[in-house]
Amino acid sequence: MNTDSLEYIRENVKAILQELTPSVELVAAAKQQTPEKIMAAIEAGVKIIGENYIQEALAAYQVIGHQVSWSFIGHLQKNKVKKAVQIFDMIETLDSLELAEEINKKVALQGRIMPVLIEVNSGHEPQKFGVLPEKVEELARSIVGLPNLKLSGLMTMGPAEGNPEEARPFFRLTKQLFNYLQSLNLPGAELHVLSMGMTNSYRVAIEEGATRVRLGTKLFGPRR
Ligand SMILES: *Cc1c(COP(=O)(O)O)cnc(C)c1O
Repeated sequence: MNTDSLEYIRENVKAILQELTPSVELVAAAKQQTPEKIMAAIEAGVKIIGENYIQEALAAYQVIGHQVSWSFIGHLQKNKVKKAVQIFDMIETLDSLELAEEINKKVALQGRIMPVLIEVNSGHEPQKFGVLPEKVEELARSIVGLPNLKLSGLMTMGPAEGNPEEARPFFRLTKQLFNYLQSLNLPGAELHVLSMGMTNSYRVAIEEGATRVRLGTKLFGPRR
């Protein structure tokens, strides 16, 4: 089928929703997609849109609005937080206390509570964002002290290319960390989201305990 057609997207979404069990949430990773294409995914059943860039998200949000929930999955700069908290229902990529404090401050002004995930650099990859696994507990303990954030779980990328089996140890490590954090019973935390797995690795991620997968190519076709 023509990968530019909206029908292609609708068929992809329906197929993946049939494949995923109800306990695994689908995030449509929508970077570089037009609002029209994102709408096609929503018509076919997508409930959560993942965006990496604030400008792109604003453009899509102006067309689509809050008929779906919006999850931020990119690298968030402090000077973009004010805009981000106007759109997003969750920030999946929290990776520093400074960023946590800034988000806390800006959502407090709105009288809201922002669910957040800590992004774990599970592969210790120097070029990747995220908190090293051994630093996650410390950040988690700080986040639960910020009244307008709700710590909701962990997110990890893992290696994006290559054999998905290569990502398995990193997903497993992140799941272990998730279980460990749950065992701490941190006050105010509700750890129920483990966001891991992309187009090439989502099946492995689910086997390793992902509760949420972030799929772009699988839904929209290859990006240019
Ligand atoms: C682009 C992106 C995805 C989706 O990647 P695909 O391989 O196209 O499925 C998932 N998560 C993040 C953070 C992304 O930036």
